Amino acid sequence: MRVAIVGGGISGLATAFYVRRLCPDAELTLLESSGHLGGTMVTREVAGFRFEGGSNGFLSNKPYTLDLVREAGAEHLLLPSNDAARVRYIYTDAVHRLPESPPAFLSTPVLSWRGKLRTLAEVFTPARRDIVDESLRDFGYRRVGREFTDTFLDPMSAGIFASTPAKLSVHAAFPAVVRLEREYGGLFRGMIKRRKRRAGPGGKLMSFKGGVGTFIDHLAGALGGTVRLDAEVHSVRRDPLGYRLDTAAGEQTADVVAVAAPAHAAARMLGRLDGELAGWMGDLGYTPISVVGFGYDGLARDLNGFGMLTTSGARQEILGVLWDSSIFPDRAPAGKKSLRVMIGGQRNAELALRSETELVAIARRGLRATLGITEEPVATFVQRWPRGIPSYPVGHLAAVDRIFARVASFPGLYLISNAYYGIGLNDCVGNALRCAQAIAKSEPWRGGPLLEP
Ligand SMILES: Cc1cc2nc3c(=O)[nH]c(=O)nc-3n(C[C@H](O)[C@H](O)[C@H](O)COP(=O)(O)OP(=O)(O)OC[C@H]3O[C@@H](n4cnc5c(N)ncnc54)[C@H](O)[C@@H]3O)c2cc1C
Repeated sequence: MRVAIVGGGISGLATAFYVRRLCPDAELTLLESSGHLGGTMVTREVAGFRFEGGSNGFLSNKPYTLDLVREAGAEHLLLPSNDAARVRYIYTDAVHRLPESPPAFLSTPVLSWRGKLRTLAEVFTPARRDIVDESLRDFGYRRVGREFTDTFLDPMSAGIFASTPAKLSVHAAFPAVVRLEREYGGLFRGMIKRRKRRAGPGGKLMSFKGGVGTFIDHLAGALGGTVRLDAEVHSVRRDPLGYRLDTAAGEQTADVVAVAAPAHAAARMLGRLDGELAGWMGDLGYTPISVVGFGYDGLARDLNGFGMLTTSGARQEILGVLWDSSIFPDRAPAGKKSLRVMIGGQRNAELALRSETELVAIARRGLRATLGITEEPVATFVQRWPRGIPSYPVGHLAAVDRIFARVASFPGLYLISNAYYGIGLNDCVGNALRCAQAIAKSEPWRGGPLLEP
């Protein structure tokens, strides 16, 4: 069986890895348009500091990435976060620690008593199992109230999806949360029951020594000669014996094609195969986000924690700040500090598209306004992602289900990427496994949200 995987981000790499594992006799080729693997998972060194262009790491409470790391023999690269990284902050009109326990919730000054009582009244809020799709804002207002939603769910949606609760489908973005309401009648009830059932401790943020790029290099090594860089796929067409791919590195034929490129790129390459399908895929939106990293010889402010996210109501130019060297000490030389500022998202999409010089100025203004950081950085890093994170608006799941149903009608054609059923590394890797299992059985893969048993 000849298998072509298009796109060398984590989705494509993990699919290739599992196809190789499950179908050792397959003739496998991974085609990547750029000159490097990893997609948005890039680590850059600047003056001894290590900056991530995208993902920082993954949580250990889902098994998928950890399983891949183990199966690929990369356990020696794993780097758990500092315990201090469990502490998170939000900026409303000042910096506040996120409450981590019921007593801390009751004493936090960020919510009024009315807001706290409304949140606790979630236990008495009737479950709505009839709602097919809903924004995170409507869901939050309905279940935990306006104040909790605007204060906590708003920065959370900025931190994970670079989005806002009004523009994010809770069903697509947080299917496990919807499930709590559906199966247990409420979020608090569900969380308590699930916690009782779960044996081990909660998730820990994990990454890799030297940055996520070291894991990408490891996976690339495991895939050996199957990878072709600078091989942009222009089109995928039917062929009497399977598929014909027109690539920047020549023509390629395959029995199975798994397209792991972003939806907009996939739409372009599938246009000649099925124009209607390509149109639906091209309609899937992306949110721009830019990352500005700074390294410092020292900081007067003690950055001990994961970082800080701003609320929309705070009207700041920045979405948040990750305190990199506090989370993973090997991101900065000994005794030095580093952080990364997130800019743009659905809140301020236009800001993410500014020039590098302007982004640095925005980041420094934001640091001064929120954390009082005025020190001169000794290292600066900028990464712009004009189409950084898939949008997942209300209607996303219906749109994606329709796309997957159509793709399933083409024998041997598969879709996989963060554009469909989850954006986290765990989602990408878990879906890659499901996709590879379907390829191994020569069955179509219809996707669907990735839910824990
Ligand atoms: C700023 C940022 C921070 C993030 N932080 C986290 C985090 O902390 N934790 C977490 O779990 N997730 C995080 N994510 C999300 C996660 O990193 C991504 O969802 C995931 O890496 C996407 O992987 P992918 O393979 O689906 O897509 P991509 O990484 O986009 O890879 C797609 C690949 O396809 C290639 N390609 C495109 N067109 C073609 C073509 N025509 N032919 C061949 N190849 C093509 C591209 O060059 C690219 O290499 C973050 C994302 C961003 C942007």
